[in-house]
Amino acid sequence: MAKEGKKKSGTSTRAWEAPASQLLRVGSDFSIGSFDAAATPGWSGGEKAALKRMKDVGEELSELQERLFAEGKHGGTRSVLLVLQGMDTAGKGGIVRHVVGMVDPQGVHHRSFGVPTEEERSHHYLWRIRNALPKPGKIGVFDRSQYEDVLVVRVNRLVDGDPWPERFGEINDFEREVAESGTVIVKCAMLVSPDEQLRRLEERLARLDKHWKYNPGDLNERENWDAYMAAYEDAIRNTSTDWAPWHAIPADNKWFARLAVSELLLEALQGLELGWPAADFDVAAEQSRIAAAKDAARRGVPSMRLQG
Ligand code: ADP
Repeated sequence: MAKEGKKKSGTSTRAWEAPASQLLRVGSDFSIGSFDAAATPGWSGGEKAALKRMKDVGEELSELQERLFAEGKHGGTRSVLLVLQGMDTAGKGGIVRHVVGMVDPQGVHHRSFGVPTEEERSHHYLWRIRNALPKPGKIGVFDRSQYEDVLVVRVNRLVDGDPWPERFGEINDFEREVAESGTVIVKCAMLVSPDEQLRRLEERLARLDKHWKYNPGDLNERENWDAYMAAYEDAIRNTSTDWAPWHAIPADNKWFARLAVSELLLEALQGLELGWPAADFDVAAEQSRIAAAKDAARRGVPSMRLQG
């Protein structure tokens, strides 16, 4: 008899008032002006309890990711895509390191999107996004995404006219197609306050080990803060759909943002109700072969050919 190798994922202590997906989900009435980036909505436990909860979430995430990976290896078609959008210093990198970093890197497909290359520019803006979608069994992570094309491109007027309503429609259709093909999409807008951003930029300058993260161009982005916020609000309002809803993550407290995204990822994986793939071989017969090999080894028979 083969036994269950690991305990089935279950619940662990939590101080959430409701599932994070409900608490953080935003839609067509989202108002960035009244958003508090320093809040910890629905979490009453404080930082210490959050770090403890992160450990439990990490264990569950790790097991569920392995189940997803195993399913992908056995003909499954499902995957998860975590989309991270945010201004510089909002903590996207920290999410990749501290949240996604809790699972086996073999099962993660990470992609960041910078200024489009010449080749990318010669295609539709969704071309590079489509090419980066996670394969079955994987957790895809987009550090920036298709939304750059309705954010930075909009604020800096990098295309003519007013194509935003049309682009929102295109993105919604694209995401629907991705969701219908078996990818659960988890979209997180990491929203940091301008004061906290300034503090983080200052810290980057003050510390030798952070200089590599500092980019003088980041201040230009900051100069257009209001235009960016308006673009974020419009994008979120128009692209938060049933198949790919937006979550607004208050990002001034790194510990809260990391916990919140961990919970969203966990909920996405739990929703897949992942099992372990059944063996496509005769387990009892293989156990007999192993028993025979052990017996041979004990008797000192050098390299017994296993029957099978
Ligand atoms: P990060 O700032 O995330 O660490 P980079 O330093 O590579 O990464 O910056 C990526 C830059 O590329 C950002 O300023 C972003 O706004 C820009 N970018 C991403 N996508 C586009 C796009 N489609 N058009 C223009 N700029 C883009």
